[in-house]
Amino acid sequence: MRVLITGGAGFIGSHLVDFYLREGAEVVVVDNLITGSRENLSDHKRLTLVEEDVSGKLSVTGPFDLIFHLASPASPKDYLRLPIETLRTGSVGTINTLELARSCRARYILASTSEVYGDPQVHPQEESYFGNVNPVGPRSVYDEAKRFAEAVTFAYQRKYGLKTTIIRIFNTYGPRMKKEDGRAIPTFFAQALRNEPITVFGDGNQTRSFCYIDDLIRGMVGLTRIDHPGPINLGNPDEYRIIELATMIKEITNSASPITFAPPLEDDPRRRCPDISLVRSLIGWQPEIPLKEGLRRYYEWIRDI
Ligand code: NAD
Ligand code: UDP
Repeated sequence: MRVLITGGAGFIGSHLVDFYLREGAEVVVVDNLITGSRENLSDHKRLTLVEEDVSGKLSVTGPFDLIFHLASPASPKDYLRLPIETLRTGSVGTINTLELARSCRARYILASTSEVYGDPQVHPQEESYFGNVNPVGPRSVYDEAKRFAEAVTFAYQRKYGLKTTIIRIFNTYGPRMKKEDGRAIPTFFAQALRNEPITVFGDGNQTRSFCYIDDLIRGMVGLTRIDHPGPINLGNPDEYRIIELATMIKEITNSASPITFAPPLEDDPRRRCPDISLVRSLIGWQPEIPLKEGLRRYYEWIRDI
């Protein structure tokens, strides 16, 4: 089996790489390292890193059995700093990788996001909900790029009969999310470990539902084994307030850090929780690692780096 993973040097992509290397596959990663890192990848004879931008001309050629398109800044800190790059990656980069899939008849998996639901007015979010996205807000560079990516993926599926699957990933965390990542879990750990204030944006009553990386990878791989175009939610439906998350991390690290409040982010979604009935009915998937256990595992990793 030959697998292409764009964004394979990033957090989620590198765990997928490890999975397919363990399976005996030949793995090609296309990544321009704009937010990822070579250190996330092992030195392996069946792994090739092609350092290039997916929104430029691609030098890689098939055959590929599977193409995962994960390339994209994903942390708000990154996509707000890289707005045009994020839009180009989600649009031109998605078309380029779909063309590659078409040329070698590869199965195509798009890593979409719960952000397509924006600040949701339906709760929990099921796949049939069209979302509530501000098309000109600061987060739109990511949200609209992913919405376009979904639209163009469906267009290739309808027009060319390409086998595609759209996965809407909800907040995922785990090893290889670095202290400077900017997302809540690595930031709170980094602050707690340094005994600095843990900075909660807004009142801390906004919610997220956090999935441990091993559960997510199992779900993504499971979805390649069936033929369903999606979109399919993948995430942990246990919902927590951000203030609860900050408190849990303070406890796990036994930190003296105070929890402080900073101004809310513009257009920050108030609630987010996946309805996972579809993936449950399709492949029997559900998360196995509760938040507290996943945070402990992450702590084991982050305290040593
Ligand atoms: P990440 O930033 O760690 O990884 C993204 C990778 O893509 C990086 O290695 C980066 O260098 C690469 N990249 C970005 N633009 C590129 C380009 N133009 N050409 C080539 N490579 C490029 O982020 P992540 O958390 O691993 O997210 C991976 C994917 O999963 C993204 O598509 C993201 O939208 C999606 N996702 C992640 C989450 C999450 O909670 N982690 C949630 C929803 C969706
Ligand atoms: N958040 C926070 N402090 C931080 C980083 C994030 O309070 O240092 C909040 C953020 O406002 C959001 C939630 O935590 O409400 C999750 O943010 P993250 O960036 O992890 O993910 P996303 O917003 O993309 O779901």
